[in-house]
Amino acid sequence: MKFGGTSVGSVDRIQAVADRIAAAVRAGDRVVAVCSAMSGETNRLIALAHEVSARPLPREYDVLVATGEQASIALVAMALNDRGVAGRSFTGLQAAIRTDRAHTKARIVDIDPQPLRAALERGEVPVVAGFQGIDAEANTTTLGRGGSDLTAVAIAHALNADVCEIYTDVDGVYTCDPNVVPSARKIERISYEEMLELASLGAKVLQTRSVELAMKVDVPLHVRSSFDTSEGTWVTREVPEMEDILVSGIAYNNREAKISLIDVPDQPGIASSIFSTLADQNINVDMIIQNISIDGTTDMTFTVAETDLDAALDALRSIQSDVGWEHIETDREVAKLSVVGVGMRSHAGVAAKMFQTLAAVGINIQMISTSEIKISVVIERKYVELAARELHSAFGLDASA
Ligand code: ADP
Ligand code: ASP
Ligand code: MG
Repeated sequence: MKFGGTSVGSVDRIQAVADRIAAAVRAGDRVVAVCSAMSGETNRLIALAHEVSARPLPREYDVLVATGEQASIALVAMALNDRGVAGRSFTGLQAAIRTDRAHTKARIVDIDPQPLRAALERGEVPVVAGFQGIDAEANTTTLGRGGSDLTAVAIAHALNADVCEIYTDVDGVYTCDPNVVPSARKIERISYEEMLELASLGAKVLQTRSVELAMKVDVPLHVRSSFDTSEGTWVTREVPEMEDILVSGIAYNNREAKISLIDVPDQPGIASSIFSTLADQNINVDMIIQNISIDGTTDMTFTVAETDLDAALDALRSIQSDVGWEHIETDREVAKLSVVGVGMRSHAGVAAKMFQTLAAVGINIQMISTSEIKISVVIERKYVELAARELHSAFGLDASA
């Protein structure tokens, strides 16, 4: 049972979480709880780090931000003991969550199930700190924003759990962020593949890497509300009926920026030097478009995370004289909007409908990319919520439809 930030966000919420866990234990389940930091706490700690230092040392940054989860596991364990349930907190170290040494975005290498298993054998309820692990030298590491989801999935796998329940502030995965599109509908069941696309394209209800792992090791996820006992959304392997639905969901990311290199020499090796330079700086490039060549030069446009824009521009300027483009244009005011559905594999016309819908409200499409089960467009950021609502109705996803 994984509880997110809002779910442990106050004393009352912590009491409610303890009630919930105690009820599961009384019903006969063997439970491991995973907790996030109280809502707002991780942001507060990150801001603090940046107030103290312009470039916080990654090792110390991780030691700092990991403290948020330690407070919540202790509080939840205390509340459980008050209910006669033997809750016991576990840090990443104590739960033997081993990661690589990539501070602030570490990957879980393995989890030794022994300490948690022993606690379960003793009749305890381990309450594990999400988001944190330790590297080979026992340095604290963190797993990237939203990383408690990954902790929960990895533990569920290590203990061979029947289900990984993700308790959050919405009662499931919706066809679009319900806080933005009020007519969004709760999805009963969604494939790992579609959930992975939605998460990586901006639906923050599940961390992308947690879905990736769940898919790889086949842990069923149940995303549900920590506020009531209603059935949530099951994320599972694809079943044939899923193909009948054309579009399952819409997601967007308004933290991207666009870079255009104008008049790049159209020669072998140019794209390679541009993108290897960015890769060397650990900058992920998302959509890439290259125009047809006119008079031996071409334009190249791509997107990066807005937070990487300055680093990307620095890196590009360092090779400008070697590669020799005319100038760079940037746009911070863009967003990427995507429609996702496994039904696209077997149905035509999704792209046409998407473009018509955007055209009808006068939204210009700047870039397009597709994969087997998604279509993404880059548009002006200020229109992204409007576009999401329009596409939501056009694809028949509205709750009243
Ligand atoms: P937690 O703190 O429990 O991990 P998050 O804030 O990380 O919770 O994720 C839950 C939020 O995800 C919701 O409040 C909602 O605004 C957002 N969200 C974005 N897209 C979706 C979606 N398709 N379905 C449900 N929630 C979504
Ligand atoms: N507290 C961490 C974050 O805010 C991890 C999580 O909530 O999943 O990113
Ligand atoms: Mg989250």
